[in-house]
Amino acid sequence: MIPDRFEYVAPSSVAEAVGLLQRYGAEAKVLAGGHSLIPLMKLRLASPRYLVDINRIRGLAQLQEDDGTLGVGALTRHADLETSELIRSRYPLLADAARVIADPLVRNMGTLAGSLAHADPAGDWGAAMLAVRAQVVATGPRRDRTIPIDEFFVDTFTTTLGPDEIVSEIRVPKPSPRSGGAYLKVERKVGDFAIAAVGTYVVLDEKGACRQVGIGLCNVGATSLRAKRAEETLRGRVPDEKAIADAARAASEECDPASDLRGPAEYKRDLVRVLIGRALRRAVQRAKGGA
Ligand SMILES: Cc1cc2nc3c(=O)[nH]c(=O)nc-3n(C[C@H](O)[C@H](O)[C@H](O)COP(=O)(O)OP(=O)(O)OC[C@H]3O[C@@H](n4cnc5c(N)ncnc54)[C@H](O)[C@@H]3O)c2cc1C
Repeated sequence: MIPDRFEYVAPSSVAEAVGLLQRYGAEAKVLAGGHSLIPLMKLRLASPRYLVDINRIRGLAQLQEDDGTLGVGALTRHADLETSELIRSRYPLLADAARVIADPLVRNMGTLAGSLAHADPAGDWGAAMLAVRAQVVATGPRRDRTIPIDEFFVDTFTTTLGPDEIVSEIRVPKPSPRSGGAYLKVERKVGDFAIAAVGTYVVLDEKGACRQVGIGLCNVGATSLRAKRAEETLRGRVPDEKAIADAARAASEECDPASDLRGPAEYKRDLVRVLIGRALRRAVQRAKGGA
């Protein structure tokens, strides 16, 4: 199918884009990579009257460390994260996630910000950002709002973003000393969305116990999920096999998968248990200096 009729506007600044969103309200949609929005428009599941294309706005494709955080711009593509030496060397969880999203064509266009704004529970970035406790910077008509990722997802395809706000940046805390992360995904075939995927982040103290734990889950609930009970299970403990198995079991119990074409709920729960075990082991290994 072809999309319904729409007006196309291409602002050259964030302020102009926000002004257009303010003027057109719920009838407008931001266009970033277009790899979620355009398919929905072609299926006529979305029919915005105005498309506000932000791709001509300069200065939105940053990927740099500053003031204790990594700033990822609204136009930073999945492929920018996948190929960045900074990401590869210092943010292994993000590097893992970037390379398993879809295929190279999608990764060349799709953006991290767009993925979060779209709020598909099957989006890989949601789980990854929950694990590392990212913050979303929303720019609206009056001011910038910094939204902790824990407060960003409201429901499937629904976030706390206002209709006149743009995600202008994602901020990821810089990795602490003795920290490591990992992202693991199982998909039916290369390029598909996850059957289930998990992101894990750990910070070890001087004695090797977990000072901080972040666990995000993909496609096993109505939104991207943070596995809070699993994190609690591990926090303060040395991540030996018993502690990791306890956390993995807790995550499999607290997720809420649906039975669908990708498999029955019980299979997905067990997949979460297995993936969390593997991802935690890898994160701990990286926190200790391994690859
Ligand atoms: C074949 C295929 C396979 C895919 N597989 C995967 C996968 O395995 N894993 C995965 O995570 N994703 C996958 N995707 C989705 C892909 O990663 C999308 O690119 C991404 O989810 C959305 O980013 P985008 O920049 O393309 O957003 P767009 O499609 O441009 O926009 C998506 C939504 O977010 C809004 N939006 C976009 N940017 C902003 C902003 N800065 N501020 C406010 N609102 C904004 C738009 O208005 C729209 O509602 C796949 C897509 C395709 C087509």
